[in-house]
Amino acid sequence: MSLSLENPIQIIESGKPGKTVAIFAGIHGNEQVGVRALQMITKDLKIKSGKVYLVLANPEAIKQNIREINKNLNRLFLVNNSGNTFEDALAKDLMKILDKSDALLDIHASNSKITKPFVIFNKYASDIAKKLNFEIISTGWNKFHHGSTDEYMETIGKPGLCTECGSVFETEKDIPLAIQSIYQFLKYFDLIDSEVKYNDKPQKYLSILNMAIKETSDFRFTKTFNDFDILDEGEVFATDGEKRYVAGSNECIIFPRENKPIGGEVFVLCKIQETI
Ligand SMILES: [Zn+2]
Repeated sequence: MSLSLENPIQIIESGKPGKTVAIFAGIHGNEQVGVRALQMITKDLKIKSGKVYLVLANPEAIKQNIREINKNLNRLFLVNNSGNTFEDALAKDLMKILDKSDALLDIHASNSKITKPFVIFNKYASDIAKKLNFEIISTGWNKFHHGSTDEYMETIGKPGLCTECGSVFETEKDIPLAIQSIYQFLKYFDLIDSEVKYNDKPQKYLSILNMAIKETSDFRFTKTFNDFDILDEGEVFATDGEKRYVAGSNECIIFPRENKPIGGEVFVLCKIQETI
């Protein structure tokens, strides 16, 4: 049976020894780029070794084109998850697949209108991240985003990558990038002989410094920021009541979201690095 919302997990086996890998899409149901990419490649995908799990992670949210039903699924990949919501049950099932897998590619999209594709990689996946055709690769998210798929993979000592394939407002645009990264990932683990080439362009490396939480209803950015805007050193770029956020050297901003409720994430601050 081919991959669909009624049959959201497809296992392709080569019958030969090799790596077992997992490719997830639709952890957030409104991020459809990976869902479309997986559905496009699944019918013709043949592998020469090992085994691959192709997974539409949150079929109900995908069907409704919403981020989640009850909870953010990408905060629930926790070894001791004892939650009882719809998404907690999903996470527990999906962790069983990750336990059986040697590596994970998890395809997302940004909820920002103006953004750029980028990769989030855990500490075992920097080499693969360099091989994907993304201009920006980033690490250090797990200090703030506990329960993500790539953090879970790090916890169990395995490579995990999350690709953010453009904006949810332009799903079509980055489907080719998502498909290409699936083939690059499968080639890296020797599951396919693909003609797809690895990235040969320079990449920008970001490490996450801070994820800011809204403390008062007076949180404001000093101007409109988009994903990856570079901040001037010493610039006050946001205020939250009495608090002032001042940029350090070589810093940029991701996911600026002024209108979050108190306690919500209002931005992520990154250091731009020369090397990983
Ligand atoms: Zn997402």
